[in-house]
Amino acid sequence: MRKNIIAGNWKMNTTLPEGLALAKGLNEALKGKTPTCDVVIGVPFTHLASIAAAVDLTKIGVAAQNCADKEKGAFTGEISAAMIASTGATYTIIGHSERRIYYHENAEILKNKVNLALANELAPIFCIGEILEEREAGEHFNVVDKQVEASLFNLSAEDFGKLIIAYEPVWAIGTGKTATAEQAQEIHAHIRQTIANKYGQTVADNCSILYGGSMNAENAKDLVAKQDVDGGLIGGASLSVEKFLPIVEAF
Ligand code: PEP
Repeated sequence: MRKNIIAGNWKMNTTLPEGLALAKGLNEALKGKTPTCDVVIGVPFTHLASIAAAVDLTKIGVAAQNCADKEKGAFTGEISAAMIASTGATYTIIGHSERRIYYHENAEILKNKVNLALANELAPIFCIGEILEEREAGEHFNVVDKQVEASLFNLSAEDFGKLIIAYEPVWAIGTGKTATAEQAQEIHAHIRQTIANKYGQTVADNCSILYGGSMNAENAKDLVAKQDVDGGLIGGASLSVEKFLPIVEAF
């Protein structure tokens, strides 16, 4: 059956010493505890190797926040999936709305990234979600279907089974505005049905679908109590142990 997962997305925050201190703080806080979910932290590329070496990887998975859409070669400034995997990281976020919007990453680019992540044994945390105008127009179900179909439905059922989906309504990211637990459940159930239509019920039932968008210690319990909400992708509240730990403990 699918896993519950709480994943942090630090975005472009923390210097290396600050990031190491945060990761070590979380590692310390989890000592002697057995969280009932997998815990992942999505850290800047520059921090991956040091953080992977500093934390107990049996308790905290380390994720990149992006990876290149090319395997290797003359792509100055890019970081490949193989490079990420060589640091000890085992996940990478792909298709975050900030990458789609600010860096114009389209469905084809994201498809390549997912394929390369999987080829390098990184579990993609694949982000989907609608903008406010799309929700107001009642288009949100179509939008997420298209995002999933265009970048993921080329995968075999076996490979699809290795990825995690994060539903993140763009209007809820960093805004303090959260989808209600009912709104999250409604669209998560829809996404699971879309997956079931393509890959069958077992693959759909085994897929972890996380909610992201201003999730915090106060709203996490209600969200993860919903049947099809299997955890969260957490931005702002992942930047302090005090805020992140209660979300880890929300199940
Ligand atoms: C995110 O960036 O994935 C996110 C959900 O951010 P926040 O929790 O700050 O809304």
